[in-house]
Amino acid sequence: MIKYKLFCKKCKISFDSWFASSMEYEKLKKKKFLSCHNCNSKKIEKTLMAPKILSKNNGNILSSKNLKFKEVNKKIKEYQKFIKNNFEYVGENFTYEARSIHYNKRRKKKGIFGSASNDQIKELKEEGIKIKTIPWIEDNKN
Ligand SMILES: [Zn+2]
Repeated sequence: MIKYKLFCKKCKISFDSWFASSMEYEKLKKKKFLSCHNCNSKKIEKTLMAPKILSKNNGNILSSKNLKFKEVNKKIKEYQKFIKNNFEYVGENFTYEARSIHYNKRRKKKGIFGSASNDQIKELKEEGIKIKTIPWIEDNKN
């Protein structure tokens, strides 16, 4: 499918229209099947805009997805940086540390972060320990 921006010479508005191909557009134009959405005039011109082409394997969609993925990665990394600066890393001891803070009311200047299995997280939550899970990207540079 190709999207063309069409321009009506009579009422000077432009509107988008979809065609199966540029060939189809030419065919419809020759047969005067194209008319203005607004005034029905046949004086329709294709404006000089690069047509947007949509196919099943749309490159545009893929690249915008990549862009979003990169954006998400960036956000997660920012989040990680914030956590690293403001929380104490306890690694695999997360469950133990979380419990000791919760039950012993151990005062820590910083919150903690570390890794825990899904089961451990479930248990901690059931015990009323406030934890959050966030996506984590291993940073190979460290
Ligand atoms: Zn018109």
